[in-house]
Amino acid sequence: MFDALVIGSGPAGLAIAAALCDEGLSVAGLAPVPPPVAWSNTYGIWCDELEPMNLTHLLSHRWQNSIAYAAQQKIALGREYGLFDNVKLQNYWLERCDRGKMVWYPGAAATVEHFTDRSCVTTTEGTALSARVVIDASGHKPALLERLKSDRRSTKGDRIAYQAAYGIVGRFSSPPIEPQQFVLMDYRTDHLSSDERKAPPTFLYAMDLGNDVFFVEETSLANSPAVTFEVLQQRLEKRLAFGGVQVKEVQHVEYCLFPMNLPLPSLQQSVMGFGGAASLVHPASGYMVGALLRRAPGVAKTIAHMVENLNNPPASIAVPAWQTLWSSDERRKRALYLFGLENLMRFDEQTLQAFFASFFQLPRSQWSAFLANTLSTPEMLQTMMNLFGHTTNEVRWNLMRSAWSDRALLWDALVGQE
Ligand SMILES: Cc1cc2nc3c(=O)[nH]c(=O)nc-3n(C[C@H](O)[C@H](O)[C@H](O)COP(=O)(O)OP(=O)(O)OC[C@H]3O[C@@H](n4cnc5c(N)ncnc54)[C@H](O)[C@@H]3O)c2cc1C
Repeated sequence: MFDALVIGSGPAGLAIAAALCDEGLSVAGLAPVPPPVAWSNTYGIWCDELEPMNLTHLLSHRWQNSIAYAAQQKIALGREYGLFDNVKLQNYWLERCDRGKMVWYPGAAATVEHFTDRSCVTTTEGTALSARVVIDASGHKPALLERLKSDRRSTKGDRIAYQAAYGIVGRFSSPPIEPQQFVLMDYRTDHLSSDERKAPPTFLYAMDLGNDVFFVEETSLANSPAVTFEVLQQRLEKRLAFGGVQVKEVQHVEYCLFPMNLPLPSLQQSVMGFGGAASLVHPASGYMVGALLRRAPGVAKTIAHMVENLNNPPASIAVPAWQTLWSSDERRKRALYLFGLENLMRFDEQTLQAFFASFFQLPRSQWSAFLANTLSTPEMLQTMMNLFGHTTNEVRWNLMRSAWSDRALLWDALVGQE
């Protein structure tokens, strides 16, 4: 029997498996295709999130020239952005798994049963694997985790918001963005008709990958229902054509779709979760890899500590781990982010642009930490008040209306819940 069984070999599965191996636990993994597997997603991150962990060597590209366009302004962000080399990122975790002699099994988890001394996962093919605790890292549609039906911190009713994007890596008739540039968001809409501007706003996320290759992606930050790939593709094509840019060669197409505000998993269950499965995606930006790198060691430490006591049943290991991942402070911050998300989805295109123009004019340390989720709750509130003080009346008016209609979220953030 293993100490821990990790379900899934995406970034979350590998991050938590590596951290558990670092703690000296015996770890097994279960994934339809055991690693190494090629990850096709392009994972980006701000370099200053990696610097404190000495992990910038995991990047394939870095851009100092990072910009955004919003409210007729070209905003120099003054912050270095990077793109992960997926092989290096995966190896960084897998080398630690290998050092811990981790074993991977092929298969898909179907069911879990809990006993006093272990949990037993059965795969769709009938193989049974036992461990003191199971960590479900099988992504946004987890195989084993129970999610709260709806918590008021996340969804309004069943309104799940999705980030959606359609992107291509390729060569173009002329550079779609400036050479050596990274565009976090280009909200310009000159290429759209007035009717199209009334539809949910989308922006261009783009980077120069060198050797005349660029990644351009039309992105809907969050919408419910999700903006379709067809619309995103049409908008990307229209944007490029408006700039006189034709696609010459497509090397890779990225279809991106994931939920931003899934309810939290039940924090009392006997299976632990990590990553998308555990609602860890940043509800206001959609980023998660930085959080995986930062949070895995703490969660693994709690699990290792609880595993030491041989009398602890699975629930006595999983529940404290859930408390580490979703402490009351983390849950309060999440309520604030969800309040922000509701606003972003409610803004019309012009208000959204005014909001982002104000957001990126906040002190860089504030907006950076807001996006990385490294502020304390009082610091977050201060950042939001700063924005309120410096933004347009239109944005202020919308925020005030939300403060009433989403008062339950604000209440949770200020007072906490459970
Ligand atoms: C296209 C795209 C681009 C993104 N870009 C960024 C970015 O730039 N920066 C960022 O921080 N975040 C980004 N994200 C958000 C987030 O980081 C990713 O969704 C991330 O892949 C989630 O990691 P995960 O390990 O939780 O889930 P996944 O990556 O979905 O991995 C889940 C794993 O579980 C396995 N699995 C599923 N079901 C079972 C089962 N029943 N049994 C066993 N194994 C199972 C799967 O095979 C897979 O290995 C992006 C997401 C997408 C979709």
